[in-house]
Amino acid sequence: MRAVQYRTIGGAPEVVEIDRPTPGPGQVLLEVTAAGICHSDDFVMSLPAEQYTYGLPLTLGHEGAGRVVELGPGAEGVEVGTNVVVYGPWGCGVCHACAQGKENYCPRAAELGIHPPGLGAPGALAEFMVVDSPRHLVPIGDLDPVKTVPLTDAGLTPYHAVKRSLGKLRAGSTAVVIGTGGLGHLAIQILRALSPARVVALDVTEEKLALATAVGAHDVVLSDADAAANVQQLLGGRGAQLVLDFVGAQPTIDTAMAVAGVESDVTIVGITGTSAAAQVGFFRQAYEASVTVPYWGTRGELIELVELAHRGVFDVHTETFAMADAPAAYERLHAGTLTGRAVVVP
Ligand code: NAD
Ligand code: ZN
Ligand code: ZN
Repeated sequence: MRAVQYRTIGGAPEVVEIDRPTPGPGQVLLEVTAAGICHSDDFVMSLPAEQYTYGLPLTLGHEGAGRVVELGPGAEGVEVGTNVVVYGPWGCGVCHACAQGKENYCPRAAELGIHPPGLGAPGALAEFMVVDSPRHLVPIGDLDPVKTVPLTDAGLTPYHAVKRSLGKLRAGSTAVVIGTGGLGHLAIQILRALSPARVVALDVTEEKLALATAVGAHDVVLSDADAAANVQQLLGGRGAQLVLDFVGAQPTIDTAMAVAGVESDVTIVGITGTSAAAQVGFFRQAYEASVTVPYWGTRGELIELVELAHRGVFDVHTETFAMADAPAAYERLHAGTLTGRAVVVP
C-alpha cells in the first residue's frame, strides 16, 4: 500500500510503498477515507535528531477517518463496514485518567510504549491503518469523512480548550483567537456554538482574517506589533476572559498576555521550537489570569464534537490533496498558504 512517511531527519515527507498491515489481537484495521495534516507534524519534522523521539520511518497522520475492514482476534464492539474517525491520543485504557476518557493525559502511555498514530505509531497517511482498540473509534454515520476528520484534532483540541473555560464566557465577555488556521477557524465556530462571548480573531493576512469573519468572528485584527493595543481599544481596555493562542511564538504569547483581562485564561495551544514564554508575575499580567498549555482532548469530547457535526454546527474549511500530493500539502502548510485544514484522500 502507499503511505506518506518521514524517513530522514530534516528531510521532506515521502510517498512510499509499504506492506499493508494486519490487525493484531484486539486491534482494528481501517481503510483510510481521509487524513488531516496538522502543523504539529511540521514541528515534529523540524526537530533535530537529539530531540526527535518518534522513530523512523514514521508514517505520518494523526487525524484519521476510515472504514472498518478487519477485526483482529478478540476485537469487538464495532462492525466491519462502519465509517469512523479515530481518537488519536491513545492511553493505557485502565488508569484513572483513562477511566475518565482523558487518554490524552494517561500517565502510563509513555512507559508502556503507547503512542498516537502518526506520532510514534503508524499514522493515517496511508491506504490502511491499524487502530489499537475499538474504543478509539467514533462512528460518523453518513458524515463526509473529509469534512469530519479535522474534528479529531483541529476540532478536538480547541473544543477541550474552550470547554475548560466556559464558566468565564458569560454574556458580555470576550474570547480572543490568535491564529485562524486549521485549529483556529474551528475554535471560532466552537466558541460561537457553545458561548455568548464576543469573538475577536487575529492572524497575519487579510485573507486569513476573511476566513475568520466567514466562520463567525465578530471582529478581526491584524496580528502585528500594534495588535494588543488594537484589541484593547476594541474592548475598552478591559481585556478578554479567554485568549487562545494557536501560534505559541513569543510575539503572540506577548499579545495574549497583554489582552488577557482580570480572572482570564490564557491558553497556549500552539507549539513552536523557540523558547517562547509568558511573562508572569505582579505588574506583568492581569489579576488572577491563569496561563495553561492543554494537549488534545478527551474521548468523550470527540463524541460530543461528532454529535455537533451531525447537527450541522460546523463549516469545516478544507483543501483536499491526493496522496501523491501530500508532500506539496506539507510545503503549503509550512509556507502558511493553506486555508483551513489540508486533508489527504488516499
Ligand atoms: P495552521 O498552520 O493551520 O494555522 C496556524 C495559523 O496561525 C495560520 O493561519 C497562520 O497564518 C497563523 N499565524 C502564524 N503566525 C501568526 C502570528 N504571528 N499571529 C497570528 N497568527 C499567526 O496550524 P494548525 O494545524 O492549526 O496548528 C496550530 C498550532 O497548534 C501549531 O503550533 C500546532 O503545532 C499546535 N497544535 C497543538 C495541539 C495541542 O494539543 N496543544 C494540537 C494540535 C496542534
Ligand atoms: Zn495535531
Ligand atoms: Zn491510562
